[in-house]
Amino acid sequence: MTPSTPPDPARPDSLGDHTVCVHVGNTPTTDGAIRTPITMANSYHLPDDPSTMDWSGTDQLFYSRNSGANQIALQHKLAALDHGEDAVALASGVAALHAIFFTHVAAGDHVVVSDTTYEATWKLWSDLLPRKYGIEATFVDATDHDAVRAAMRHNTRLLVTEVVANPTTKVTDIGALARTAHDAGALLVVDSTFTPPPLYRPLDDGADLVAHSLTKYINGHGDAMGGAIIGRRELLEPIRAEAMVDVGGVISPFNAWLISRGAVTLPLRLAQHQATAQRIAELLADDERIAFVAYPGLVTHPQHELAARQFGGRGFGAMMAFAVDGDPTTQNRFVSHLRVITSAVSLGHDESLIVHVGTDGPRVAAYPEDFRRWGHLRFSVGLEDPDDLAADLRQALDATFA
Ligand SMILES: *Cc1c(COP(=O)(O)O)cnc(C)c1O
Repeated sequence: MTPSTPPDPARPDSLGDHTVCVHVGNTPTTDGAIRTPITMANSYHLPDDPSTMDWSGTDQLFYSRNSGANQIALQHKLAALDHGEDAVALASGVAALHAIFFTHVAAGDHVVVSDTTYEATWKLWSDLLPRKYGIEATFVDATDHDAVRAAMRHNTRLLVTEVVANPTTKVTDIGALARTAHDAGALLVVDSTFTPPPLYRPLDDGADLVAHSLTKYINGHGDAMGGAIIGRRELLEPIRAEAMVDVGGVISPFNAWLISRGAVTLPLRLAQHQATAQRIAELLADDERIAFVAYPGLVTHPQHELAARQFGGRGFGAMMAFAVDGDPTTQNRFVSHLRVITSAVSLGHDESLIVHVGTDGPRVAAYPEDFRRWGHLRFSVGLEDPDDLAADLRQALDATFA
């Protein structure tokens, strides 16, 4: 029997990012295999006297909703990568976000949420959690620090933001938001899905809890869903006990293994994603058939300087939004002409993915004017040859405007 996240022999803070991705969480087996196997077991042998065991506990391996070998291995890698004390891996990014909210907020509490977030975060705070649990939420422009400060109340428990917002790419200042949250006695919760390590580590700038959709860059191959929360042990233990064991959104051993494997190449992939994204963003911005491009790596982006400083020159991610110059039918026509880039949701996969997001829906009110006029194309720049992506975009534009 081993604890739920036993100490890993590899010292995370003394190793470089590539070494962490390759080695941390990989434990050789007793038969000499040098790779952690997939343990597809719901249960583990009990000790001789199990009668005093805590069936809700997570520090012994006995049932896969409480802990599991592959889950532990993945948690090690994620904690080391994000410079956290501990990590909890769950079934999806949304399961991870909900686990934070469910555990650290209760009826009568208040939260402040960025007005631009992933769809499910918006739904949880604009409807589900207030309606079902009596928690109040205030949405603010998280780049307007006076507005954020003004929104904080005596019962505000969480300030919730994304580093680079899905889908507008608005960038928030995590260090400044951490100070605002802490001054008000609240925790800063950061969804860093668009900015995985080594690009950025919100905990280093004062965030209390970081959430990732592992489905995206960290797995990176578009074949497994997962979510994670990284932070101080004292904040993660209650999430494990309340949201994981008793609500049950656990990750499967197979998906945990796939994501651990995918994460081995995360720094390499990210470098390629980002270099190509910068080139593609510049190419699109120079084309008069493009209405607008939102990418933090462009000097025209409203938070370009903040992003350059906050990410320490390590890049700007590989997510962008743009629109071709025309109505929604024109956007669809453009997408239909793409031959290399795939029209599908999700992001951070090896293949480039594009989605035409329309102009309907309540949260669109918070988007910049360009987004509201044209709708937009959310573009996740993949690992294909940059020349092939550039050529695909060019021929689709030519065909659209022929
Ligand atoms: C995709 C995504 C999520 C949700 O992750 P799932 O794994 O799909 O549940 C949350 N936040 C952001 C920013 C995302 O892009």
